[in-house]
Amino acid sequence: MKILIVEDDLVSRRLLQEMLEGWGHDVQCAENGEEAWRIFRKGDFKFVIADWMMPVMDGVELCCKIRGKNNSGYVYFILLTGKDKKEDLIEGLDGGADDYVIKPLDREELKVRVRAGERILKLEKELTGTNEELRKLNVRLSEICMMDPLLEIGNRRSFYYAIEKTHYNACRYMQNYGIIMCDIDNFKAYNDTYGHMNGDKVLKRVVDAISEALRLSDDIYRFGGEEFVVILPDQSLEGTRAAAERVRDAIESVQLEHTGVSRGIVTISCGVASFTDSDKTDKWESLLNRADKALYIAKDEGRNRVGMLEETIADESLFPESKNQPK
Ligand code: GH3
Ligand code: MG
Ligand code: MG
Ligand code: MG
Repeated sequence: MKILIVEDDLVSRRLLQEMLEGWGHDVQCAENGEEAWRIFRKGDFKFVIADWMMPVMDGVELCCKIRGKNNSGYVYFILLTGKDKKEDLIEGLDGGADDYVIKPLDREELKVRVRAGERILKLEKELTGTNEELRKLNVRLSEICMMDPLLEIGNRRSFYYAIEKTHYNACRYMQNYGIIMCDIDNFKAYNDTYGHMNGDKVLKRVVDAISEALRLSDDIYRFGGEEFVVILPDQSLEGTRAAAERVRDAIESVQLEHTGVSRGIVTISCGVASFTDSDKTDKWESLLNRADKALYIAKDEGRNRVGMLEETIADESLFPESKNQPK
């Protein structure tokens, strides 16, 4: 173990050095607290044995300085002292020392106290390692909680966080936003015709095509089953409708075979809605509700289309100054 010895008395310093090296430690010496502080800052010491009474800077002051520094791990500090009155020892330990050895040094006593320090440092290192592993696992766990494992996009929980934030920004900073609800048409028939494994592949292809058709600032989430929802920040209803049309067209253009339907290819239907003045008092749920209703309109009108509720068109000029240009 790398140990820093601080002792102003030459004979005691040599003796200490000899003992510690004899026990296999890698020792560096300093004559007083100030010199030790300089050495400590440059080296990576986890163990310090310092005399209390020294010129320039004493052992307790050195200990306070070490404790005040942002060290990479714990530093074990043993104070050597000729003082053996209880109140003196309390003062020394109160300054941050872990242990003390009363002079004149007893070889065996010092040996067991150094060993005790080593044990504590070993435990501390193990604890730090475990904590770091737990921290990484926690990060991974929160990622897993937010992701859809099949499609590797945000799941419904993640969507709730995102829409909450987007809605808050819209209310607070007068920013538009739009949402698109997407649903794969006749997907049950696809599974029935081609099997669920192939159905999963289609889900991935659809998500890829939707993502490519969107701006980087627009995010797609799996709402459930074969339904996806897209949030388009800073977008008007018309911009959202145009984006939805682009998305719908992108899926149609992939020309994924679907013999279970008359069109012969996989298509999606979309419902759009955008933030309106009344949504400031309502919650984002009413926006989602409108997009959902709009999706049903698209389904009713024959699928492979974009639906929109008529009443929302009147709100188009909500924030005319915001930059809602379709992509
Ligand atoms: P519509 O055009 O009205 O939306 O008809 P649909 O058949 O797409 O709708 P329906 O709600 O009847 O069926 C949805 C299907 O989506 C049924 C379900 O098995 C399938 N599905 C949901 N999640 C998954 C999945 O993760 N993988 C696969 N392969 N299929 C899924
Ligand atoms: Mg001294
Ligand atoms: Mg559905
Ligand atoms: Mg469907």
